[in-house]
Amino acid sequence: MKDCENLMLYASNELDGAAKAAFEQHLQTCSSCRAELALLRRTDEALAAPAAPASVVENLFAKTTRRRKSFFAGWKPAFAGTALLGLGLLTFLAGLQPDKTAFDASEVIAYMSENLDEEYLNFSNDLALFEQEF
Ligand SMILES: [Zn+2]
Repeated sequence: MKDCENLMLYASNELDGAAKAAFEQHLQTCSSCRAELALLRRTDEALAAPAAPASVVENLFAKTTRRRKSFFAGWKPAFAGTALLGLGLLTFLAGLQPDKTAFDASEVIAYMSENLDEEYLNFSNDLALFEQEF
C-alpha cells in the first residue's frame, strides 16, 4: 500500500533509479495505481491540448474580475488551484473505481464544464471572505 504514495512522484518523473524501478514493479500488481496513472496521463494531454478547458476557465475568471480587475488579478493562481483541486478529486474518485479505466479526456472536460458553475460559486465565496479580511 505504501508504494501507492509514490504515484504522483512517478507521474511527474520525480522518481529515480531504484525508486522508479520499484514503483514500476508495483504498477504490475496494483490496478488502482495503473488506472490512476492512465487518468493522470490523459488529463495531462487534455490540459496540454489546444485548451478548450483553459479558455473556459479564462472566461470564467474574466467574469469574476470584471468588477475590480487589478485587485483580483493576483487571484488567478488561486482559481487555477481550485480547478486543479476538482481534477484531483476526479482522479481520486477514479482511483476508487479501478474498473473505470475508460475515462478519456473528453469526459474530464465534460465534468469540468458541468462543474464550472459550482466552482465559480465557491470561488466567489472565497473572494467574499477575502474581502471581509480588509
Ligand atoms: Zn498502488
